[in-house]
Amino acid sequence: MEIKLDSVTKDYESSESTQRALSNVSATIGSGEFFFLLGPSGCGKTTLLRLIAGLIQPTAGRIKFDGVDVTDLPVDKRGTALVFQGYALWPHMTVRENVEFGPKMKGVPRRKRRQLAIDQLTRVEMTDFMNRKPNQLSGGQQQRVALARALAAGTQCLLFDEPLSNLDARLRLTMRDELKTLVKSTGVTAIYVTHDQKEALSMADRVAVMKDGEIIQLDNPEAVYSQPATHFVADFLGEANLLDGIVSGLDDSNNLAVATQFGEISISVIDQYSSGISVTCCVRPEHVRIQLASIASGKEEDNVLPAKIVNNIYLGDVRQYVCQLDGSDSEWRVAQIADETAGLGVGDSVQLAFSPRHVAFLENENN
Ligand code: ADP
Ligand code: MG
Repeated sequence: MEIKLDSVTKDYESSESTQRALSNVSATIGSGEFFFLLGPSGCGKTTLLRLIAGLIQPTAGRIKFDGVDVTDLPVDKRGTALVFQGYALWPHMTVRENVEFGPKMKGVPRRKRRQLAIDQLTRVEMTDFMNRKPNQLSGGQQQRVALARALAAGTQCLLFDEPLSNLDARLRLTMRDELKTLVKSTGVTAIYVTHDQKEALSMADRVAVMKDGEIIQLDNPEAVYSQPATHFVADFLGEANLLDGIVSGLDDSNNLAVATQFGEISISVIDQYSSGISVTCCVRPEHVRIQLASIASGKEEDNVLPAKIVNNIYLGDVRQYVCQLDGSDSEWRVAQIADETAGLGVGDSVQLAFSPRHVAFLENENN
């Protein structure tokens, strides 16, 4: 099922004030897509999910499922299901009874609904546990049953609101993979709300990054991470090293040249930009190479910044260097495979090198 949001706005009214939770949100979520709403607390993710489910009505704008306007349809007529809110299984029913519950409420005859339940439990590989109660299952197994139950009830769209947020870190990691595989195997459209960027990047087909009731950027995980559109997106999705400058034109290699206080920075960009506009360059820590200034031998096409190491943090898999750019308050973070640069220490003068391909070009948020 394709879901289309057309300029959706939501105001929460109370006697004293009006709170705008969403303003003019538009997006099309493809059939079978695993779509993520990512953003900080209070940015409107749950509100948007509840609007799609039909639990609340928009103040303005329309919502369409496969081209049909469902804005005024009540929740039980929409074919959507909020799943995984504490798994929400009936504790007194067996697994099979839980999955049969939806069809039973719709009046599906016993034999048919039993077959339906078995079909869906087969799909999530839970037929061996059919006669157990939910409290005799692990978290992951309960999750599978909840999914089978939603599918048996005829759900065309699965909605998840921070389903893993109450789990411990280790379980959360395994559940990510499992849930992704499971959801994709159903072929059903799914929308997943989270404030955890790793969850979104590792599971999503596409991510809508939200802030203050608006979608700031909508793209696949690679694009939102490596080509963030704004400072906010760059920061929210990971650590970002930033450097302000002014576009000065194209250089010899047809890269965009940006004049900064450290000289010219080259950026590979496809779009055309006019000279004179002020921009911010953004480089991820893992894309910066660090070398002692005295022995540095950067590749010719690399951008190079002089800096001094002010902190050196061993993180097991990687070592993170915090470096202060020469003649500036700016600190850059560099992540290197832990043993590759073991000789470097605090106080060393270094060069930070990075390729034009790894510089993202940030629009100014106030533009
Ligand atoms: P998120 O899920 O991203 O944390 P929400 O959609 O829950 O954000 O909330 C968006 C904004 O709307 C917040 O400022 C929140 O305080 C406000 N809000 C949410 N629900 C209500 C409500 N029932 N009444 C009034 N304001 C609400
Ligand atoms: Mg929420």
